[in-house]
Amino acid sequence: VEENNEKVNGLVAGSVPRGKEPEWDDNIGYFIKKRLRVWCRLPNGQWGLGKIQETFGDEATISLLSGTVVKVSTAELLPANPDILEGVDDLIQLSYLNEPSVLHNIKHRYAQDLIYSKAGPVLIAVNPFKEIPIYGNEILTSYKQKAKDSPHVYAIADAAYNEMMRDEKNQSIIISGESGAGKTETAKYAMQYLAALGCGNDGMEYRILQTNCILQAFGNAKTSRNNNSSRFGKLIEIHFTTSGKIRGAKIQTFLLEKSRVVQLANDERSYHIFYQLCAGAPSTLRDRLNLRMASEYKYLNQSECLVVDGVDDGMEFHKLVDALDIVQICKDDQEQAFAMLAAVLWLGNISFQVIDNGNHVEVLANEAVENAARLINCSAQDLVLALSTHKIQAGKDFIAKKLTMQKAIDRRDALAKFIYARLFEWLVVQINKSVEMGELSTGRSISILDVYGFESFKNNSFEQFCINYANERLQQHFNRHLFKLEQEEYEEDGINWTKVDFEDNQECLNLFEKKPLGLLSVLDEESNIPNATDLTFANKLKQYFNDNPCFKGERGRAFGVCHYAGEVVYDTNGFLEKNRDPMHSDFIHLLSSSGCQLPKSASLSCQSGGLESSMQSVGTKFKSQLFKLMHQLEKTTPHFIRCIKPNAKQFPDQYEDDLVSQQLRCCGVLEVVRISRYGYPTRMTHQEFAGRYGFLLMETNVSWDPLSMSVAILKKFNFLPEMYEVGYTKVYLRMGQIGRLEEQRKQFL
Ligand code: ADP
Ligand code: MG
Repeated sequence: VEENNEKVNGLVAGSVPRGKEPEWDDNIGYFIKKRLRVWCRLPNGQWGLGKIQETFGDEATISLLSGTVVKVSTAELLPANPDILEGVDDLIQLSYLNEPSVLHNIKHRYAQDLIYSKAGPVLIAVNPFKEIPIYGNEILTSYKQKAKDSPHVYAIADAAYNEMMRDEKNQSIIISGESGAGKTETAKYAMQYLAALGCGNDGMEYRILQTNCILQAFGNAKTSRNNNSSRFGKLIEIHFTTSGKIRGAKIQTFLLEKSRVVQLANDERSYHIFYQLCAGAPSTLRDRLNLRMASEYKYLNQSECLVVDGVDDGMEFHKLVDALDIVQICKDDQEQAFAMLAAVLWLGNISFQVIDNGNHVEVLANEAVENAARLINCSAQDLVLALSTHKIQAGKDFIAKKLTMQKAIDRRDALAKFIYARLFEWLVVQINKSVEMGELSTGRSISILDVYGFESFKNNSFEQFCINYANERLQQHFNRHLFKLEQEEYEEDGINWTKVDFEDNQECLNLFEKKPLGLLSVLDEESNIPNATDLTFANKLKQYFNDNPCFKGERGRAFGVCHYAGEVVYDTNGFLEKNRDPMHSDFIHLLSSSGCQLPKSASLSCQSGGLESSMQSVGTKFKSQLFKLMHQLEKTTPHFIRCIKPNAKQFPDQYEDDLVSQQLRCCGVLEVVRISRYGYPTRMTHQEFAGRYGFLLMETNVSWDPLSMSVAILKKFNFLPEMYEVGYTKVYLRMGQIGRLEEQRKQFL
């Protein structure tokens, strides 16, 4: 035991050099020798579970569980986990953390409706696309009373709440995943749990929950990926009193997709609220707003998709009005908001006719113009001028120059987007007023972040550029914290652990953020040059960043970025215009001289504040918003939830291996797994370890304490010193080590 005492104090720390992982080959050699279960990559790219029958040199014959026998190179084999590890709660318990093992484990659980798993500290949530009886008061209570501790979003919310109360430290729950993966639903369950835990008697928690309904109506839409897709990012900060009751909340939103108001892809819808209003407004309101059916509005009917399966828009409208009442938005303001929505719809029906031999247009006078003007509360004449002419200064005077067809259409759409965006901002301000707390509390808040995950489509534009940049930042946050947590545990348990440096994504962030030479700065610079085009922008990027390892020059207008989750090629088409997001002064003039109060007050109380921010480019504004967010999150203890979409069809009980493995890679679950490889995924207390394997010592006459017994077990089975650590309270084993003891154990049982 003498010799082993050294180990107790910690010897071989951080002995796996950076970039070198414990060798799979050794394991595979062992597996081949022992004819153990392996994962075998099949010609179709999928993984099959099987047993090695024979090997000749680098070739192995595998009999798969499915019954077929295949011949593959041993390089295509990975070790499979022993049976006892089938479907473990926490992936970290797997002896082999390779991709097929992780995939299989999650799939195995999913098949039993166990949609939640842990990957160390991270919660993985696989969207069931069906109702599973794992929510509601009863379950909630059993998590609250710690009667249940299987992985669940409730358990995460519970941990966040308890840590907040214990440490008096702000917490955050950071939810990510691709569109339709279940982020927003997960966020709602987390809020539900916190509301139940922090329920006071002022109804505040109820009001906070109702904000979901409102933001969802105005900020969600049916897309091809998700029938209820959030088209904005959201951070909700829930504040508690010293006794743990909810005091209030604060909501921040990010990057609402404005283009959806005027332009829809086939089979997608605009924001839910438009259809709800058209279907659910009572007749007196319909008359006052000159409201028609959704099918009569061009902005809505262009995509030939007006309804969502299983959704009654009319009924949703009533729920929305109830929610607006609950958050105390007065009836006058509600009517104003509905009038703005109707104005947007009528704007979309305004059309233009060509004059001057086809060079210019004028507005076609019809009910659309009349109605839009009336709803905006300006004269039809002013609206016509703002939509079809462009004011240029000539000396002291302004002359109105007629616009071309495309310019006029762009202008009409810009006005519609402007009004909608202002309405959304106004709404967020109103909601915040309703849930705000008195003086600021410190150390007693939980923030829930629900933002769009990493996106890589066939065609990626400015939106993906911003979204992926944000995800790059969040990933850095993720890495730092997971490393920190992991390493803190080793240190606390007295293991002499050399800090492992993680290869972070700073370089990619630099590519975006560096001044004056970063993607965002160059975009701003180019946005300010009058004659610049998307092509000149792309060319500049290629000229500046040619040598940057994170940058890839592509043909024409395209360029590529090597993100942590993979390479994405962006098409710069529209980048400059979207970044400038020009707000024609004519509109500001039109709206501020109109009798309509709402957009005016919205402009004034707009979160990001006044004129100054409207001069900022969209990219720069987003960057500063993101910095503020990161700064805020940095001051919290984070809890991560990674949502996974098991199939693209939104069907229950369908699990597509490829799709899942791609997401596991993108949302960094495999990264956590990789991090764990450097560490000690198996952690058992001395008692647990001695209790499970002690009998293998066969020295029944000796009654040792758990620590000495644990050390003796490790010695008896010749564990290499770099394969384990013994801490003050636990035994730590490297990847794959526990399997050896399990086998020994099996032979006796
Ligand atoms: P995201 O916000 O990631 O785009 P959502 O949270 O809107 O995705 O989820 C998309 C859809 O998936 C939901 O409308 C719901 O039908 C289903 N869904 C998501 N999470 C769950 C869950 N935990 N239980 C049942 N259905 C869910
Ligand atoms: Mg969402």
